[in-house]
Amino acid sequence: MTKKLISTNPSDGTYIGEVAITSRAELTEMIATAKKSFEHWSALSTWERAKIVTEAFESVAPMQRDLAKLLSMEMGKSGGRSMGEVSGVIHSAEYFSHNVADALKTEKIGMNTQIQHKPLGVVAVISPWNYPLAMAANLIIPALVAGNTVIFKPSEETPIVANELVAALNEYLPMGVLQVAHGGKEVGQNLVDGDVNLIAFTGSQNAGRDIMKRASGQLKRLIMELGGNDPMIVMASADIESAARFAVASSFENAGQMCVSTERIYVDESIAQQFEARVIAYASEYKVGPWDERGAKIGPLINDSQYKKVHSHIADAIAKGATLVLGGELLESPYVPATVLTEMTTDMLMENEETFGPVVAIARYKNLDDAIARANNSDYALGAVVFGAKEANDVASRLEAGMVSINQSVGGEGDSPWVGAKQSGFGYRGSRQGHQQFTQIKVLSK
Ligand code: NAD
Repeated sequence: MTKKLISTNPSDGTYIGEVAITSRAELTEMIATAKKSFEHWSALSTWERAKIVTEAFESVAPMQRDLAKLLSMEMGKSGGRSMGEVSGVIHSAEYFSHNVADALKTEKIGMNTQIQHKPLGVVAVISPWNYPLAMAANLIIPALVAGNTVIFKPSEETPIVANELVAALNEYLPMGVLQVAHGGKEVGQNLVDGDVNLIAFTGSQNAGRDIMKRASGQLKRLIMELGGNDPMIVMASADIESAARFAVASSFENAGQMCVSTERIYVDESIAQQFEARVIAYASEYKVGPWDERGAKIGPLINDSQYKKVHSHIADAIAKGATLVLGGELLESPYVPATVLTEMTTDMLMENEETFGPVVAIARYKNLDDAIARANNSDYALGAVVFGAKEANDVASRLEAGMVSINQSVGGEGDSPWVGAKQSGFGYRGSRQGHQQFTQIKVLSK
C-alpha cells in the first residue's frame, strides 16, 4: 500500500493535504527518467535553457497569491512574508538564470585552451522547510540552467506548497527535467544513495554529515548549505538604537527559524545596560500568534519538536544562571513568545548550538579580544555581524564566518555567494564560482 505524508497547519494542526511517499523503486524510475530527459535538455544551449527556466518561473505569477497563502498555512509565516518569498522566487528567476548562463560561458586561455562548463547529469535538490520555495529555487534554477535534470525532495513539513510550485513549473518545462520526490529523511537517503551526480543540499549539519558519508562511495559532488549559530558583536561605539533594532529583528525573523538569524550577542559592558533596555523595548512589540492574526509578528514554530528544543535551550540557560528578562513562558505548542535572556555563558546550549527560535541571547564583555574569541569559538560559521564605528572594520576582518557584515545583515548585494565556513557549509551557491559548481569543468586543448 502506498504510504502517505500528511501535511498539517502548524498554527492549529488542521489538515492541509497529503502526498504519496516516494518508494525506492519509484525513485529509481524517476532517476531513469531524469537521465533520459538529460539527453535533450543538456543538448540545448545554456541561454536557451535560461530562457525556458525564466519563462517557467514567470508563468507561475498568476497563482502567486494562492501559493503564498498555502505557504503561510503549511509553514506558519505571515502572509506578507510568504508573498515576499513567492514573489522573490518568481521575479528573480530572470536575473538569476541570466547570471548562471553568463557564468558558464566558455573561457579561453592562451592560444589553444578552452575552459568549458559541462552539466553533471542528475542533481538531487534536498530542501528544508523554513523558506521552502526560496531554498529550493536557489538550487533548482542553477542546476537546470547548467543543463542538469533535477529530482527535488522538499521537506516533509512543506510538501504541498512544493508540489504546487513544481506542478506549475512543469506546465512549462519539458517533461522529466524537474521531478519531485516526497518523504522524510529515509527518502532523502534513498535519493542520495541513488544514481545521482550532484547532491545540492540545504539543511542541518547532522543531515549534511550523513549525506557526505553516503556520497563518499562514488565521490558524488556536493553542495551543502548548513546551519548557523551567528554571533553579533555590539561595540562601545555602536549606534545603540540601530544595533538593538537589528538584534531583535534578526533574532525574531521567521520566528527565529532562519539560518542566519542572530543567535548570540556580545555587547560591550559600557553600553550593555542601555542596549539591553532598548532590546527589551523592541522585543516587547513582537506579539506571538497564528500567521493571519492581526498584529502577530511571531508565528508558530514549525512543529512540537522544534518547540521542545527551543524551550530546552531556554531552561538550560536559566538553570546555568542566565536571567530571563522577557517571555520564556510555556504557551501552547508550537508557539514561543518573544524571549530575551541576558548573562549568557559559554557552557549554555544557547551559546553552542543553533536554537532556531524567537530568542535574543545576550552576554556582556569587558575585553573585545575575548568577545571575538567567543564569537569564533564555534563549529558553525555561516554569518557574523558587528555593530560599531570604524573600528568595526578590524573586528569584521577577524570574525571567522562565510558572510560577515558591519551594521547590517549578512549576505551581500546582488549575486553574492551564499556561503558558510567551517561546518556551516561545503560548496555554495550564488556568484560565478557558485554557479559553476553545478557543472563539471572541462579543459579542452586544440
Ligand atoms: P534537516 O536537515 O532536518 O532537513 C532538511 C532536508 O533534508 C529535509 O528535506 C529532510 O527530509 C532531508 N533529510 C534529513 N536528513 C537527511 C539525510 N540523512 N539524508 C538525506 N536527506 C535528509 O533540516 P530542517 O530542519 O529541514 O532545516 C533547518 C536547518 O536548515 C537548520 O539547521 C538551518 O540553519 C538550515 N538551513 C540552512 C540554510 C543555508 O543557506 N545555509 C538555509 C536554510 C536552512
